[in-house]
Parts: sequence; C-alpha cells; structure tokens
Amino acid sequence: MEIGRPDFDTPQSIKKAAIRALQEGKVHYTANAGIQELKESISRKLAVENQFSVDPEKGVVITIGCKEAILDTMLAYINLGDEVLVPDPSWLEYQNIVKLAGGVPVPVALREEEEFLLNPDDVRECVTSKTKMLIVNSPQNPTGAVLPKSYLQALAEIANAFDLIVLSDEIYEKLIYDDAKHVCFASLPGMAERTIVINGFSKAYAMDGWRLGYAAGEEHLIQPILKAHQYNTSCSTSFAQYGAVSAYEGSQESVRAMVNAFDQRRKLIISRLQQMDGVHCVVPKGAFYVFPSFKSLGMSSKELAIALLEQAHIACVPGEAFGNQGQGYLRMAYSASYDQLEQAMDRLAHFLQKYR
Ligand code: PMP
Repeated sequence: MEIGRPDFDTPQSIKKAAIRALQEGKVHYTANAGIQELKESISRKLAVENQFSVDPEKGVVITIGCKEAILDTMLAYINLGDEVLVPDPSWLEYQNIVKLAGGVPVPVALREEEEFLLNPDDVRECVTSKTKMLIVNSPQNPTGAVLPKSYLQALAEIANAFDLIVLSDEIYEKLIYDDAKHVCFASLPGMAERTIVINGFSKAYAMDGWRLGYAAGEEHLIQPILKAHQYNTSCSTSFAQYGAVSAYEGSQESVRAMVNAFDQRRKLIISRLQQMDGVHCVVPKGAFYVFPSFKSLGMSSKELAIALLEQAHIACVPGEAFGNQGQGYLRMAYSASYDQLEQAMDRLAHFLQKYR
C-alpha cells in the first residue's frame, strides 16, 4: 500500500495508438513543446472539462511526467531565496524541487480537524516579501483532500493581493468521490493570468511508466517553462505522446471503471479503519490514499511503518515523509486489489491488538 500509482494496466486503445505510432516510424524528436495533436487535445480537454482556455501553440508544454513540468516551472520562476508556499503534509517532491531550483519551501500546516484543507488564513500568514509562488494540489497527495470552490476562491484572493504565481497540480482531478467536485484553479476569475496548471496521464489513465505530463497556461507564463524544458529534455518521448492523444480523445469508460473500483476500496478501508480502536481517519474525497492518524500509539510514524512492514507485512509510507505535520500518520494507498486490502485491514487490526 506504499506506492502512489494505479495497479491497473494502461487501456488497450492507448497502447495500440503508441504501437501504431512506432510502426509508422514516429520515432524522432518532436517539437520541443510536443506534438501538435496532443497540444490540441490538451487544449480541448482544458476548455471542455476545466473551463480554461489555452492556446495549443503557445500555452502547452508536454513534459516527462508532471514531475518535469514542476521542475521546469521552478527553474523558470524561482530565483535564489524566493519563497514558495507548500502545504504540509504534501507530496514530498515539491519542497525538494523548490530547493533544487534555489528556492525556500515554506510549509503551510494542514490540520486533521480541518480535514486537511489548505486554510487560506494560514496561507496569508505565511506570505512574506519574498513569497513568489503558492502550490495548490487538489485532490491532494497524501491526504486525499479535495478543496471546495470557496477555499479556492479565498486562495485566489490571496494570490491576487500578494501577486503570487500559483502552481496548481491537478493530476488527481479525475479520481474524485461522493459529492466532491474538481475546480481548475485557472478557471477562477482573474486566475488565468497567474496560474500554471500541471496535469498528466499517470493516474487517471494508469500511464505512470509512460512519463507524460504537461504545464498549461497563458503564453507569458508557459514560454519560460518551455525554455527550461528545451534545455532539460528537448521533448517528451514521441510515440508515448501519440498514445496520450488516444487517452484524451478515446472512450473514458476505463477511467470510470477504475474510479468505481477505487471508490469501493476507499469505502472498505475507511469503514475498517473507523472500527479500529485508537485509529482516526478523515474521509478522503479524492486521489487513492487514506491518511489515518495513529497518534494514540505513541510511536513515530516511521517506527510504526517499520513495525507494520516487519510484523504484519503491510507496506505504507510514514506521514513524516510528507512534512513535519505528517508525524503520527501513515499514508496508505488503495492501489491494490479489494481482496488484498481486506487482508491488509485484517492484519492491521490484529497488529493493533498488541498495542492496546
Ligand atoms: N503530483 C502529485 C501530487 C503526485 O502525487 C504525483 C505522483 N505521485 C505526481 C505529481 C507525479 O506525476 P507524474 O508521474 O506525471 O510525474
């Protein structure tokens, strides 16, 4: 339950499109920003699904996963000593990528009692004269929290007031449950001019090994990212890009089936965790993680993760790997089969009996 990737296979139609591209000899460098078909497909998707209009020519850069898009963004915008507001806990790469670019990550604490929603008042308190950028990630890794529109609007006001660039990582947008709705940050009034949307194919299309993502936004925001991308990798893998066109243009049935399966597993894990003494679990509305608290056991989350691995053969990520606020929590990915997860919950319940 440790790894942050779907356990499903990439849908056949997507694989076939990449195979076809290989057979047709589409094996050479592409334009730096990516192939025309995929840039257009991304632009259409953003307009239709996210109410965000970008120019396919100048507003999209296709990268080696979201990760490269995030690194290129930091290289393009962060100068030595610039501060970047990073939710804590959050995907640990953010703070390390900020440091790699010479910036200073400033953690903004997320609280369990607030369902791990990024509190705009806390963000405001962390702003200094050196703050350049705010990272928003909804649905979130590792908590599964989905920011309601009212929170996003309040964050948008802060971005405006302090002239911040917003990096909105929307990679989990399609993995969303119950009544939660994904709102693209750039679609909020006035935000297109300061928001870089990061998205990709790793999660919803089970294409993490394909390494394809993108940065999208207004021309003036995206062109500096293209420069970083150009000197970094030239372009993303040619035939993988053709596969990705088919991901966006083809049937979305496999996405729906995968989300349904994740939802069943999510419900199973939550109901089992809620029955365990000493465990507290906020109900996540997105992604494929739960982030339960084991604080009552009185050990560090790393000690707990090691004990669980050695004694119960369950692998999870200690919460502290996602920032100081993650201490006492474990991230459990439900990217394993329903049966395996049932077995994991049985073993966890058994393990916890020793600590009563
Ligand atoms: N953003 C977040 C929040 C993630 O959790 C991950 C993967 N774990 C990524 C981006 C990376 O995506 P990619 O595979 O496209 O680099």
